[in-house]
Amino acid sequence: MIETNDFDLENRIVAPEVIKADTTDDVDLNLRPKTLDEYIGQEMVKENLKIYIEAAKKRGDTLDHVLLYGPPGLGKTTLSGIIAHEMGVNFRVTSGPAIEKPGDLAALLTNLQEGDVLFIDEIHRLSRAIEEVLYPALEDFALDIIIGKGPSARSIRLDLNKFTLVGATTRAGQLTSPLRDRFGVIQRLELYSKEELCDIIMRSSVILGVACDKEGAYELASRSRGTPRIANRFLKRVRDYADVMGNGKVTKEIVKIALDRMEVDDLGLDGLDRRLLTMMIKGYNGGPVGLETLASAIGEEAVTIEDVCEPYLMQLGFIARTPRGRCATELAYKHLGLLKDGQTTL
Ligand code: ADP
Repeated sequence: MIETNDFDLENRIVAPEVIKADTTDDVDLNLRPKTLDEYIGQEMVKENLKIYIEAAKKRGDTLDHVLLYGPPGLGKTTLSGIIAHEMGVNFRVTSGPAIEKPGDLAALLTNLQEGDVLFIDEIHRLSRAIEEVLYPALEDFALDIIIGKGPSARSIRLDLNKFTLVGATTRAGQLTSPLRDRFGVIQRLELYSKEELCDIIMRSSVILGVACDKEGAYELASRSRGTPRIANRFLKRVRDYADVMGNGKVTKEIVKIALDRMEVDDLGLDGLDRRLLTMMIKGYNGGPVGLETLASAIGEEAVTIEDVCEPYLMQLGFIARTPRGRCATELAYKHLGLLKDGQTTL
């Protein structure tokens, strides 16, 4: 397998966030499930939401504000759209970084109709000033507006329609506690099992009109890092290989050829993951090593390692977090074919 050191994070094929290749593909909207029943996996979250939605509907009330957290690409946006669909209301989408001024948020809030779902992605990135505007909106469905300046300034209260805020974040820990406390429902999304990803891939292949056998779907699922967005992206890429190198069908063999060429190994690790683990093992004797030290040793941002590489490497049991830093586990040594002294076993 060829290793490249030159990582273009915006195009990293195993990136859990949206990359350029995803956004050029407008069929993605069709891949998003529209109802809770179509949404695969996350059983606990679904069960809970089902009850809250049904109860709110029975009372003729709006749904309580919902916070969804977990790694990128697991279906937070999709689930928010489903909540709006199930409640039979409009779905408005924005994100923390897109709301620059308090006025931007005020404009959004005053345009909401009764019961609407307002989705704010990356809600941990809202500025303090904007959070202040949000508090009375969430609690009393009201906006406090200051008119005038200096001693003649006065505050007036503007009533809003009742709405449901759905906030999504990859970093629940970064949310201020007053904001966090205003969510009645807080749910964590987990990485998906291979079986669940397999179902998602089979569903997407039907929608995209791609022939895909069970073994091919399972092989894809095994390499998708527990993340539906990556699974769907792989399916689209592998389809090209199937068309050119096979008879158009996505099989286990085609998946292997395609993903090996993309430098994604049988567990879904790419060059960046391997570089990280190899540095821990060869450079720091398997750890413990601090996040910042590790980041500068491999020339990456600490947040990239923390948000993008670690959740999956931890799920695999390749990395353990200790108070003194990160450690590579025996499973990681084994996967890379390295011995305790960093020598290769091959
Ligand atoms: P997030 O907002 O958490 O980053 P998205 O909601 O944008 O993730 O989901 C990424 C992609 O994965 C979507 O295109 C959607 O089609 C797919 N997806 C996510 N969760 C599921 C699921 N449970 N079942 C089927 N497809 C899903």
